[in-house]
Amino acid sequence: MKTAKPLQTMSGVHKLSPQEDVGFYKGKKSKRTFHIFVNTLEEPVDLYYFYDGGETLRGSIEPGSNLYVGTYVFHQWKVKRRGDGALLGLYAGQSAIVTIHKRGCSATYNAGTVDWRDVGDANCTSLSTPFGPYALRSTVHGMEIWALQCVSDAAVERLKELVDCMLDSCPVGVLQRMLRHYPSFGIFGRENVVSDIPPHAFMRFNTNRDLDITSRGLGATPTVPVTSCGEENLTMVDDRLYPCQSIFVHEFGHAVMNLGMPLDTRQRLQEAYQAAVDEGIYPKDSYIVVNEHEYFATATEAWFESTIRKDVNGGLNTRAKVKSRDPRLASIMAEMFGDGKWRFHHNCPRPLSFRQSSRCCRPQAALPQSQTAPAAPSLEPGQQEQAQQHLQQTSTLQQQEQQQQPRQLSHEMRPPSADDLAEPRADAHEGSMAGPIGTGNPAGVATS
Ligand SMILES: [Zn+2]
Repeated sequence: MKTAKPLQTMSGVHKLSPQEDVGFYKGKKSKRTFHIFVNTLEEPVDLYYFYDGGETLRGSIEPGSNLYVGTYVFHQWKVKRRGDGALLGLYAGQSAIVTIHKRGCSATYNAGTVDWRDVGDANCTSLSTPFGPYALRSTVHGMEIWALQCVSDAAVERLKELVDCMLDSCPVGVLQRMLRHYPSFGIFGRENVVSDIPPHAFMRFNTNRDLDITSRGLGATPTVPVTSCGEENLTMVDDRLYPCQSIFVHEFGHAVMNLGMPLDTRQRLQEAYQAAVDEGIYPKDSYIVVNEHEYFATATEAWFESTIRKDVNGGLNTRAKVKSRDPRLASIMAEMFGDGKWRFHHNCPRPLSFRQSSRCCRPQAALPQSQTAPAAPSLEPGQQEQAQQHLQQTSTLQQQEQQQQPRQLSHEMRPPSADDLAEPRADAHEGSMAGPIGTGNPAGVATS
């Protein structure tokens, strides 16, 4: 398989109005659906849609790339080999990730974009995956929490608690705007990678930045409104990579921005971000200034004091620092989350720490700093002793808890290739693709 290409994007696509969200054909009514066609072949394919007796070329998909289409259930999609026009597969139906293989196409329903109740399967609360069932486990503020079977109830409960605390002082309009996107949560096991859960399965193929190696969670977007996180970072039990920060708080920050932020606030965020860059508030190579998305998500960590890192955020790791160093940003944070009392350490299962286990399961040493999510930091001077002490204190407790947790077998994980390192980021925060009728939604597919 060839190296993946960046997500394809189209600009100038407007958001669907509620009226456009439903289509009719010969008396049939369909909600808007979204498919992602992923080409794993080493040759390009052409994608056609068949509708009302006519076939129309929708676009071509290069090897290792994908195409996102907004459509309706009564459109039939045909995948043809570019060379000789041979039909490789066809698909019609609810929102799906359609993977094009040598022997045809296979569809995985996209739990991130489909509302099961609308397609007549109200009882669907579990999807099968190669890693065991991915099932509905709970809800919080009207948002579903799904998890792989290996994930403990403790992780589900901790996620609920975090969402509850983060939204505690949040203006009601923010949550209302979010709920219009049917947001949900997905938890994968400590031995899983981000693309192991169905809603993010397509990410395995289509980004230069290998999210399976660099990320332990993804933020929700309108296209795939699922915020994910690894179990170990929720429970903080033997988190071998990010024991010093809450990945979940960061990813949920992306979700709140992508789904709940009004357009005028987004405009002010863009201005605040540009001013922060221009005024040099943060070191210019720090993760917080990669773009306005990371600016907001990294500041969310500081707002709730869920990080003790200073390397990726220019030292911005408390609410007081946000207010004093970047007041424009602080006012936006207060608008989105309120300015309540809760801080991450008030009920964190274990204190944040720079300790790191030697039993690292991922090829972390090979990560390129400049291209990845904030990499797990090395110990800072003076912290080694404290970390060892902490490790001794918690190791017995961790061993006990680990024995109680079912483990998923690790599957093969590849180190970053030369292409991963050489090519630019492909998060495609604003990527969107138009469908045959109307338009797609103005959203990236995932943020990390
Ligand atoms: Zn991020």
